[in-house]
Amino acid sequence: MRILRTIAEVRAAVREAKAAGRSVGLVPTMGAFHEGHLSLVRAAREQNGLVVVSLFVNPTQFAANEDLSTYPRDEARDAAFAEAEGVDILFAPEPAEIYPDGFATNIHVAGITEVLDGASRGPHHFDGVATVVTKLFGIVQPDVAYFGQKDAQQVLVVRRVVRDLDLDVRIVACPIVREPDGLAMSSRNVYLDADARAQSTALNRALDAADAVHRAGERDGASILSSAHAVLSAAGIAVEYLELQDAETLQPVTRIERDALLLIAARVGAARLIDNHLLTATDTTEATP
Ligand code: AMP
Repeated sequence: MRILRTIAEVRAAVREAKAAGRSVGLVPTMGAFHEGHLSLVRAAREQNGLVVVSLFVNPTQFAANEDLSTYPRDEARDAAFAEAEGVDILFAPEPAEIYPDGFATNIHVAGITEVLDGASRGPHHFDGVATVVTKLFGIVQPDVAYFGQKDAQQVLVVRRVVRDLDLDVRIVACPIVREPDGLAMSSRNVYLDADARAQSTALNRALDAADAVHRAGERDGASILSSAHAVLSAAGIAVEYLELQDAETLQPVTRIERDALLLIAARVGAARLIDNHLLTATDTTEATP
């Protein structure tokens, strides 16, 4: 595995691989690897001749009051994991390589960025994500790029950019990887102390409770939301948001007639956690043979 710092080096390596007929898979990350990241890397490894993982804590997607300075960073550990998974290139640039003096372009996706994390974290967040992902696509020119369904709104934003800007890359969304007790894996889980870690399982339990009433045939949005709310409030968690949205447009859903996403963000101890679950229009226990 090669650790590369510059755009020029990455371009040269990718050009060589493409000339040899190898497909290129990209996994964009901010590092502090866990099994969620590694699941994307494994998917990329299975499906491509060249696997590029980017490791870049993107400053533009953090607000001034967020955790940019304390975000967990351990490049040596990440490099060891990446190497063990058979990654070919770990692209770990300095911020100035990505945002040189005079950088002046912003990719803004309207609509779907204005709700959920876009509303709670501010409009800079998805602008930062869309801009850095577009740059990574320009640098690596991957055939396929892998993202986690854990960040469901991010997947929709990236798909919108690809469609609207006619980028020649296929987006693959990989399932959420969870701890044995259901907590969605996240680099930010290291911020949880023992009490907060115990409390944190309520997010997935709330999604499970909603899933159970949905499978039992409930289609009313308010009833589904209230079953999730009950679990969260019993655990003493005040949510930043708990919403049921159309799985493609992120418009609010009052009755499930098409696939819908149930999405949660909550502060638990020192961490801001997010989680989500897809409720499909056809999913009922009765329908399962
Ligand atoms: P991050 O380093 O947090 O920006 O995450 C890099 C990629 O890993 C993103 O596409 C995330 O959605 C994905 N990811 C993070 N956590 C998980 C998880 N628990 N399961 C699946 N994918 C994840």
